[in-house]
Amino acid sequence: MEIRNFIRRFEGRVVVDDVSLTVQAGKVTCLLGPSGCGKSTTLRMIAGVEMQDSGEIYVDGKLICDTVFRVPPERREIGLMFQDFALFPHLSVANNVAFGLKGSKDEKRTRVEELLNKVDLMRFIDGFPHQLSGGEQQRVALARALAPRPRIMLMDEPFSGLDNRLRDGIRDETLSILKEQDAAVLLVTHEPEEAMRMADEIALMRRGKIVQQGAPYNVYNRPVDKAAVSFFSDVN
Ligand code: ADP
Ligand code: MG
Repeated sequence: MEIRNFIRRFEGRVVVDDVSLTVQAGKVTCLLGPSGCGKSTTLRMIAGVEMQDSGEIYVDGKLICDTVFRVPPERREIGLMFQDFALFPHLSVANNVAFGLKGSKDEKRTRVEELLNKVDLMRFIDGFPHQLSGGEQQRVALARALAPRPRIMLMDEPFSGLDNRLRDGIRDETLSILKEQDAAVLLVTHEPEEAMRMADEIALMRRGKIVQQGAPYNVYNRPVDKAAVSFFSDVN
């Protein structure tokens, strides 16, 4: 997936300022930057739930969205996972995971079981969200997002609501499932440590602009300026 020259203004203020990005199948690209720099706005435009003022999205070289032509969000083969993208409380775990699925009852059930096995939550298949811990709920949310086999996965700070003790395990688990499915992943985070841990490629964002892009090792070791040095300084 390629995003070209995204621009978004709110009340005359430019919050996404000429952002271009490429995300490849089987790879994780991290959009990393401080709070308020425009990460979520960028992600929402890619998801198609918000409109860019200018810019285009291409998938496999084919235009799927510009300011005139838009493939509707539900046909973009995009999976979403947000920190506050809650499960449906009145639906069972199985029905939460099956929510976006098409096909016969049996086909859906097979897919649901496959995913719940992957996230190691089969024992909760007939349970309800409130019976699960935060980490378990987040794994159900991952299963739900992956169930329709999205080619592109957009994740906005999906782990920031979890306590430290759980977070590392869920990060690793999520990463291995995403890689296995060969999804192109765009992960938004304000935590350098998370980007260093998960990314194949980091795009460092500040005040609406991408100021540096590259492999984590390079971005970390060759910071583009003093602000980048201090932003990374809390990484161990
Ligand atoms: P991030 O996800 O990096 O924290 P956001 O994309 O949420 O940043 O926000 C970028 C900037 O755009 C912020 O200053 C925010 O206040 C502003 N913004 C976001 N959405 C709106 C909106 N709907 N109307 C006005 N300003 C907005
Ligand atoms: Mg945000």
